[in-house]
Amino acid sequence: MEPFAAKLLLGRLVRKKIGVRVLTTDRSSSLKKLLRDVNAELRRRKMAPIKHSYDIWHFVKAVIKDCILAAKLKKCQTLGSWIKSLRNMLWYCFSACKGDPLLLREMILSIPKHISGVHEFPENKLFKRCLHGELGEDRSKPWLKPGSLSMKKLNEAIRGKKDCRLKDLDMMTEFQHTSVNENINARHGFKKTRVFFKKNPAHWFFLVFW
Ligand SMILES: [Zn+2]
Repeated sequence: MEPFAAKLLLGRLVRKKIGVRVLTTDRSSSLKKLLRDVNAELRRRKMAPIKHSYDIWHFVKAVIKDCILAAKLKKCQTLGSWIKSLRNMLWYCFSACKGDPLLLREMILSIPKHISGVHEFPENKLFKRCLHGELGEDRSKPWLKPGSLSMKKLNEAIRGKKDCRLKDLDMMTEFQHTSVNENINARHGFKKTRVFFKKNPAHWFFLVFW
């Protein structure tokens, strides 16, 4: 349904010579292929290609879901106390990466280290240390132990199967997300909702699906 609607819409825009800078979708492989085809057609017509961006809301949701599941294991209860911080750190990384895929990758991969009490990363090229100041000694939240099952589960959640989530980070540097749309859909139901994002071109694509 979604690839079909996207194809229809993009076809109309191309024919009317309306330029689109960024298109944000979920991490569907069929949409990835569609964008490749559309961009080939745009280049043939001497029009600027569309930058395909993945929705970071879906990424954060998937990582958090895996961590919540893992935290139900007896050996991973420590991970449970970090869920809220983890969500905040992920959002912060996406918002602060300045469009740089390497910086984003290094920031995201520093999260498990921060959670285990390591705050300097000399092996990195861009993100050498955490941005917070000195941490007090009286912290009640326990650090995750390196090599623990909690740490293993956290790394797996961030990296995804065969590092698939990590590889997709290159397409999430624009801080594009559909959290507003998803929340509205969840509250009111997909078919009943009619919302217009006239002022923010980043959201125009989703208008069509309502
Ligand atoms: Zn830190």
